[in-house]
Amino acid sequence: MSQIRNVAILGSTGSIGRAALEVLKHGDSPFSLAAISCHSQLGLFEEQIQSFSPKFAFVTGPMNEQVQRWQTAEGGSKDASTARLNGMDQLVSLVQGPEVDIVIAAIVGIAGLETALAAAQAGKRLALANKESLVVSGSLMMEAAKASGAEILPVDSEHSAVFQCLHASAEKSAVKRIILTASGGPLRDWPIDRLSAASIEDALTHPTWQMGRKITVDSATMMNKALEVIEAKWLFDLKPEQIEVVVHPQSIIHSMVEFVDGSVIAQLSPPDMRLPIQYALTYPNRKAAPSPQIDWAKPTHLDWKPADLERYPALLLGFEVAKKGGTCGAVLNAANEASVELFLDNRIKLTDIATICRQVLDHHHFSPNPSLSELLTQDRWARKEVQSWVNSKC
Ligand code: NAD
Ligand code: MG
Repeated sequence: MSQIRNVAILGSTGSIGRAALEVLKHGDSPFSLAAISCHSQLGLFEEQIQSFSPKFAFVTGPMNEQVQRWQTAEGGSKDASTARLNGMDQLVSLVQGPEVDIVIAAIVGIAGLETALAAAQAGKRLALANKESLVVSGSLMMEAAKASGAEILPVDSEHSAVFQCLHASAEKSAVKRIILTASGGPLRDWPIDRLSAASIEDALTHPTWQMGRKITVDSATMMNKALEVIEAKWLFDLKPEQIEVVVHPQSIIHSMVEFVDGSVIAQLSPPDMRLPIQYALTYPNRKAAPSPQIDWAKPTHLDWKPADLERYPALLLGFEVAKKGGTCGAVLNAANEASVELFLDNRIKLTDIATICRQVLDHHHFSPNPSLSELLTQDRWARKEVQSWVNSKC
C-alpha cells in the first residue's frame, strides 16, 4: 500500500488551486489535504474548507474585520477540524514544517516566491505552477533545491510535457532542443495593426484554456511564453538556443523534445490542467485522472507554425532575459506584473505592455549574481519605473 502524502495547496481559490482540489478528490487518492491558502475571496475559501476539511487554512491578505470574522467563525462538525490562520509568515513556517510533504505552488505572481523558495529550501516536493518564482530567482531556487534534495516538478503544462518527454533518453547530452508550444492567445488571428485596440474583454477570452486573469493577459501578449522560456532554462538546465517556440492553436501537443538522432518525442492530451497537476503529485507513477482523453475516432488536425515576433514582441524579451540572467528576470517580471495590472485597470493599451517592459529592462542596473534582497529591490524599482512611464504619458 502506498503511503499517504500530505499536500498543501497555496492559492486554492485560483484556477490551478481549484483544479488541484479536483485532482485530490478524484478516485482513491493517496493524498491528504494538509493546508490551503487564499488571499481574498473568502466565500469560496469557506466552501473549500467545508468540503475538504484541511488541517490548516490560511488567509494571506491583511487582517481586517472580514478575516477576523472568518477566523472566529463557528463551523459545523467538519469545519471544527480546520485551524484558521492569517499571514504569510505562518504559511511559510507550515510549508517548511513536518505537516507538509508536497507543496502545490499556485499563488500568482511574485507573491508566490517566498513560499515556493521555502519549499525548495526545506527539501519538499514542489509542484510548481508559479513560474514567476523561477523567472525572478531561478538560480537561487535551483541551488536551494539541490542543497536540500527538494524535487521541483513542473505543473505548467508545457514543462510537464518536456519533463515527461525527457525520460526518452538516459543521457542529457542527447537532448538537441525542446519545442514549447503556444496557443497564440485570444488575438492570434487579429490583424497586427488592430492589437493596440484590444479591450480587456478581448484579451481575457482565451480560445483553449480557462485561467486566471493575469496569465490570460500574458497569453494574449505572449509574455507567458517568454516567462516559460526562462522557466524551462532553469528547470531543465538548457541554453536559450536550445529552446524553440511554435504556435499550435489546438493546445493538444503540450510540448516536445528533439534528440540528437532526430527523434522528436511529444506529450499529447486535451487541454486540462488537472493532468499535469496530478502527474506532479504521482510521479514517477501514474493513475487514472479526472481529465478527458483524446478521442482517436474523431479526425483532428494538429497545426503549428513559427511564432511571429512582430505580433509578439514580448517573446523576444524572454529569450534575451534567459541569455543574460542576473537581475533581468526580476525586472522583466515586475514590469510585466505592474503593466498587466494597469491594462486591467484600463489605463494602458495591451500593446504598451511589451513596450514598457522593454524600456524598464533596458534602463535597469544589471547585476550578474544578485542576492534575494537585491532581486526584491529591483522588483520594487521596476514597478516604480512602470508608474513613471504611465505618469509621463498622462
Ligand atoms: P488565479 O488568479 O486564478 O489564482 C491566484 C491565487 O493566488 C488565488 O488563490 C489568490 O487568492 C492567490 N493570491 C493572489 N494574490 C496573492 C497574494 N498577494 N498573496 C498570496 N496569495 C495570492 O491564478 P492562476 O491562473 O491559478 O495561476 C496561478 C499560477 O499558476 C500563476 O503563477 C500562473 O502563471 C501559473 N499557471 C497557471 C495556469 C492556469 O491554467 N491557470 C497554467 C500554468 C501555470
Ligand atoms: Mg504554460
